[in-house]
Amino acid sequence: MPPFRVARCREESNMAKSDTRPKVTLACVECQNRNYITTKNRNTQRERIELRKFCPRCNVHRAHRETK
Ligand SMILES: [Zn+2]
Repeated sequence: MPPFRVARCREESNMAKSDTRPKVTLACVECQNRNYITTKNRNTQRERIELRKFCPRCNVHRAHRETK
């Protein structure tokens, strides 16, 4: 009898479209070299992630930012 059942069903079909653990590439912020590939949980990591990793091209530890 209540109409909210229909609305809930539509919401679930939208959820299924988005991948919750997409692959992201981490690139050095200085030389743009793509050194690492990881996955992130979109439920907890909505923003672009940035990690401090070793860059073989720069030969130092640098921040690596998510690229598409
Ligand atoms: Zn670099």
